[in-house]
Amino acid sequence: MTHAVVLGAGIAGLLAARVLADTYDEVTIVERDDSPGAVPRRGAPQGGHLHGLLDGGRRLLEELHPGIVDELAAKGAPSVEPLRDTRWYIHGRRLAGDATGMRSVLVTRPFLEAALRARTLTFPGVSLTYATATGLLERGPDGVGGVVLRDGTVPADLVVDASGRASRLPSWLARLGHRTPPEHRVDVDLGYATRLYRRGPGTAFSGVTVSTVPRFRGGGCVAVEGDRWLVTLAGMLGDHPPTDPAGFTAWAATLPAPDIAAVIADAEPLTDPVPYRFRGSRWRRYDQIRMPAGLLAVGDAVCSLNPLYAQGMTLAAQQVRILREHLAGSVDARAFHRATAKVCASAWGVATRSDLAMPEVDGRRPVRTRLLDDYVRRVQLAAHHDPQVARAFLRVANLTDRSSALLAPRLVVRALAHGSR
Ligand SMILES: Cc1cc2nc3c(=O)[nH]c(=O)nc-3n(C[C@H](O)[C@H](O)[C@H](O)COP(=O)(O)OP(=O)(O)OC[C@H]3O[C@@H](n4cnc5c(N)ncnc54)[C@H](O)[C@@H]3O)c2cc1C
Repeated sequence: MTHAVVLGAGIAGLLAARVLADTYDEVTIVERDDSPGAVPRRGAPQGGHLHGLLDGGRRLLEELHPGIVDELAAKGAPSVEPLRDTRWYIHGRRLAGDATGMRSVLVTRPFLEAALRARTLTFPGVSLTYATATGLLERGPDGVGGVVLRDGTVPADLVVDASGRASRLPSWLARLGHRTPPEHRVDVDLGYATRLYRRGPGTAFSGVTVSTVPRFRGGGCVAVEGDRWLVTLAGMLGDHPPTDPAGFTAWAATLPAPDIAAVIADAEPLTDPVPYRFRGSRWRRYDQIRMPAGLLAVGDAVCSLNPLYAQGMTLAAQQVRILREHLAGSVDARAFHRATAKVCASAWGVATRSDLAMPEVDGRRPVRTRLLDDYVRRVQLAAHHDPQVARAFLRVANLTDRSSALLAPRLVVRALAHGSR
């Protein structure tokens, strides 16, 4: 009888449990938050804020749970073509364009998580236990044989830490005498404020995204299930949106595009604004240490990124796809973390390059980063006029195509021609 334990029933934990169920006889998800019906729930307070599911993540979710997007759409989540049905503003101007060949399903995070949880728990051998993990059980000098809970222990052949950004795994490793992972950080002091509104029929678009480039303030407004608008305002480097209703409305009017303020002006609020403060991106380099056998980490526990780029759930799904590939035979922790470091590096590059383009953000800027950033800025400017550049840019931003797609010769020509206007 083989047994895997997953710590955390967030997006990464639920997806990991789903793939482990194909190989392990039993999969136990250990989750400390016993309020699954709360919206958002205590254990994942970020769930009250805008959670865009990138097209790259949507595709991976469909691979693991065929039909899930149609299921969400049938329950009221708008399913749209990103560039035709939603508006994107970068550098204060709207991207041109029409069809991208992508599909976005617009949902709140609790709605998506509930669907994933329900599906995951139907897999044979998968169960969920409400308990708080507090450490690791040792197996021999260099292995892990389960988890320690606040009251009790759970032996396991494999432990997967998916307990999120606040994961205690580094200190648990230290307690057992193992090395702790080096950590990269880029601080952005980002503030969110979010409010739900009733959505009537007849709006010309299903969503608006206003980038914080170039001057710190941005936001998103998306049509979500339950005929509601989810409106998140975002400000970087301490310029945070207020959470009193009048201040929220006034702040929305300071954005470089008028659409979000227009939605707010006409819609009935359903909630008061709620805040969230995000200090910065963190990447724990488990690929650079020798992890004990039988122990893996995925999701925000490894790499937690500036949420403005909406990569977190997709990155978790990418790591889980790699987990699936590594499950044939006994899992080699080192090979697994080295493989996931590649997808983390790519997402980390997207997020931190954009953040470091702002001189006020602390961090190293190698020449390559500066050159790339300058080129991406030209791509973004060209995307205001050139639908083909807009399409290519948005497909890369959605992690559907690799960043190298932006370096295709015909695109470079278009970006250089239009990006200097
Ligand atoms: C404000 C904000 C907005 C975001 N917006 C987006 C977005 O637009 N698009 C996107 O893709 N991503 C977004 N993200 C990121 C996204 O939330 C995460 O990347 C994604 O959900 C993967 O997280 P996770 O499952 O690793 O961790 P989490 O979702 O944080 O889940 C961790 C789980 O572990 C549980 N847990 C913690 N410690 C223990 C313990 N000791 N024992 C047992 N259980 C434990 C917690 O209760 C929780 O349920 C956003 C994040 C933030 C902060």
